[in-house]
Amino acid sequence: MPTSQYVQCVGRHFLIDCGEGTQLQMRRFGVKFQRIDHIFISHLHGDHYFGLFGLLSTLHLLGRERKLTLYAPGPLEGILEAILKAGNGHFSFEIEFVPLDEKIGETIFEDDKCYVKCIPLVHKIPTYGFVFYQKEKDKVLNIDKAKNDGVSTAYYTRLKKGEDVKISDGRLLKSEDYTNPGEPQRAYAYCSDTAYSEKLVPFIKGVDVLYHEATFIELLADRAKQTRHSTARQAAEIAKRAGVGKLLMGHLSARYDDGKKHMTEARAVFEHCEVVEDGTTYSIP
Ligand SMILES: [Zn+2]
Repeated sequence: MPTSQYVQCVGRHFLIDCGEGTQLQMRRFGVKFQRIDHIFISHLHGDHYFGLFGLLSTLHLLGRERKLTLYAPGPLEGILEAILKAGNGHFSFEIEFVPLDEKIGETIFEDDKCYVKCIPLVHKIPTYGFVFYQKEKDKVLNIDKAKNDGVSTAYYTRLKKGEDVKISDGRLLKSEDYTNPGEPQRAYAYCSDTAYSEKLVPFIKGVDVLYHEATFIELLADRAKQTRHSTARQAAEIAKRAGVGKLLMGHLSARYDDGKKHMTEARAVFEHCEVVEDGTTYSIP
């Protein structure tokens, strides 16, 4: 089941996994993939990265010059090098490779607007999940009140950052008196592929949206255990324990025509869930 997700966070463009056909699907759904600067690969099963070489090669042909950062299990670096060497080729842009092998629990990307953490999944080979956080916004200044009280604009920034400020005439201005709360932090967690693992829970506690694989339903719980995948009930159990806002289930085995059984099973444990398919888009309000 080729997997890939495109994540946008306040003008940042991320790609998670890049199964075969990702490039074509991005074209089909109108994703401007030249804007992607960071690619995260969860593990080295082909259905999660065989589309990567085609995508990198297209970016090269389009004359990309901007650096691209690739976060992936260590062995991918050697695979990429071997492919380039065999064809005596190179890319027109720099690839910064960040091996994930020692990065569990760490922030692997951060700028002023968002950050991404690497989290542990349980699968047949080393596998990593990712949580994307949009940072909390500064408080919003109540300018009318500040003007009325004769507060100099020089203090606005500190008040917005939540600081109480003592001004030259001796008054102490409380940030909460002059501001309204900014937008809260938002978070999205990606967990595929993985067996049921309660170790995951603290890493995804309270995220707004959790994508968790649900390859099987409980009838095939043994098969899920053997292949280190999850059932819909298990995905819902993780969502419930982590207290997430919404559960999106995907990576359904091709043996299922649709996600109806997955939904029935998951809903009995955790109400706010949905099965997602190719082309589904989801916004965190
Ligand atoms: Zn896998």
